[in-house]
Amino acid sequence: MRLGKVYLVGAGPGDTGLITLKGVECLGRADLVLYDGLVNPLLLGHTQAAAVRTSRTSAPEGRVLAQHEINEQLIAAARAGKTVVRLKGGDPFIFGRGAEEAAALAAAGIPFEVVPGVTAAVATSAYAGISLTHRDCASAVAFVTGHEDPQKPESLLDYRALAAFPGTLVFYMGLHRLPEISQALIREGKPADTPAAVICRGTTPAQRTVVAPLGGLAAAAEKARLHAPSLTIIGECVRQRETIGWFEQKPLFGRRVGVTRPAGQSAAVIARLFDLGAQPVLMPTIEILPPTDWHEVDRTLERLATFDWIAFTSVNGVRSLMGRLWETGSDGRRLGGIKLAAIGEGTSQALAEFHLRADLVPSSFRAEALAEALKPHVAGRHVLWARASRCREILPIELRSAGATLEELVVYRNEDVDQLDVPTLAAIEGGELDWIGLSSPSIARSLARLLSPAAKARLGDPIRLASISPITTAAAHEAGLPIAVEATRHTWNGILDAIIENS
Ligand code: SAH
Repeated sequence: MRLGKVYLVGAGPGDTGLITLKGVECLGRADLVLYDGLVNPLLLGHTQAAAVRTSRTSAPEGRVLAQHEINEQLIAAARAGKTVVRLKGGDPFIFGRGAEEAAALAAAGIPFEVVPGVTAAVATSAYAGISLTHRDCASAVAFVTGHEDPQKPESLLDYRALAAFPGTLVFYMGLHRLPEISQALIREGKPADTPAAVICRGTTPAQRTVVAPLGGLAAAAEKARLHAPSLTIIGECVRQRETIGWFEQKPLFGRRVGVTRPAGQSAAVIARLFDLGAQPVLMPTIEILPPTDWHEVDRTLERLATFDWIAFTSVNGVRSLMGRLWETGSDGRRLGGIKLAAIGEGTSQALAEFHLRADLVPSSFRAEALAEALKPHVAGRHVLWARASRCREILPIELRSAGATLEELVVYRNEDVDQLDVPTLAAIEGGELDWIGLSSPSIARSLARLLSPAAKARLGDPIRLASISPITTAAAHEAGLPIAVEATRHTWNGILDAIIENS
């Protein structure tokens, strides 16, 4: 059996954009991924491999894997010919035991490579607006473990030397020992008024930074109830934050925004939310499913050439119809000279994904407006409406009254999900979200049904609802949901713009 290989890969500190290209390539090739508790699980989107979490009690087996067990798993998988990624928070070697894993692999004769990562000190200082080696304030930087008790005589750390160190000190893992660490430094001669900061969950939308003079840092961190993972920076360089802080100033920094879109359709929204500094909370309220049976769709696709117009009233309608055309061995040429109508910007963008230009998009995002715009063109014409199993029924009534022969074709089903997941519902009940975006009437109705009375009591204050359009707002009101803002552009980007304006 050919030996596999192990890649010890740094995942970066939290922001999923801070893994290296090489790290992503390794994930793409992996057969097995073992990742530690600091790794952002969203990175697993880069791999098809089985992924096992190796620490923290939230592992499915409910236990923490000992280091020797991790080493044994790496070795066994590589012996079985697998490509294994050992994904570790930050950099694999900086306070990461990566070297111990490498040594075990070397001893077992397993080929391995190390892919460095952005270590927490480098990443979180940058995101907090602190340059660890700004030439005006530090000519050196030390990465120090705060894990050891400075009172213990066998401590490897020489606090006298650390206090005299001519540069910035960065303590990893030291939050619980902050009182002892700062006292030891001050006792050994470090001025109590040295600027210092604790950064918690750095580089993520949950980043929090507490700044205080060294002498008051432990009390300030305690008061702010910071928790792990946290990092402490001590030195004059902390002052720069006031001028070059940037991450915490993002438009939606730290805000938690519920995304109610169907799972699998939220990628672009999630990316923009992270870009705005917000924390997306995925809470799909409806799911998009294929028709129960494709028979009707397939028969219609075969005689597509008999239609003069196709009307699309959703992105899903476009993707489903065009996707089925492709799957059944045909392609966009089947649309020939048929004219295409799209209800709004999102739907016409979906057509553009298939290199199709909408012939008609009404100026306002409503079925009434689409019908109005189509009416002059459809008398005596054959119109196909690619529709959802559930949607407003306005279009057929209007178009038939204008003399069109209209066929309705259900190209996808939209069904309510049975429930929100338990942590999400608890977060809403606890008022922990800032916003929830609603992007269709059925989503609004479904949310109203899924929320408990305790969750509903949080709507309006502190959780605000943002609606995509007047129709969605009306549906929400009818279902008893208060809408705080309504988008002027009827897309998810429009919802986010409205949220930014009102935050
Ligand atoms: N190998 C990792 C460090 C592992 S030790 C690296 O290179 O970053 C774990 C410590 O790293 C934590 O106790 C904390 O001090 C620090 N840390 C990791 N991620 C962090 C984050 N997002 N924000 C603040 N500190 C972090």
